[in-house]
Amino acid sequence: MDNKIIPKYFYLFSEKYRISNIKEIDNGTSFGHAVYDENKIKIAKTIHKKVIQEDQRESTYCHELMHIILDSLGKTELSQNEELVDSMGKALHQILKTSVYGK
Ligand SMILES: [Zn+2]
Repeated sequence: MDNKIIPKYFYLFSEKYRISNIKEIDNGTSFGHAVYDENKIKIAKTIHKKVIQEDQRESTYCHELMHIILDSLGKTELSQNEELVDSMGKALHQILKTSVYGK
């Protein structure tokens, strides 16, 4: 089923980033991972052998997006600030989830 928030790919500053939905990351201990040198965001389907809910996967995507944006801007120190990245990701997720388009 198509997800309205997690795309297959997107472009940022002329770079193409692909999203791969994989069974597990780091032996099933991570929700997601941004792989900068491969222009890729990995999002796990399971963690600790439990299925991750779609809402959590979307939130993970937004979190990893924040890493990608900050790193693309050369703000590596900010990107390493997990608290900031997490807050920004949650804010973006909420906006995307509650956005209404059209007339
Ligand atoms: Zn992070």
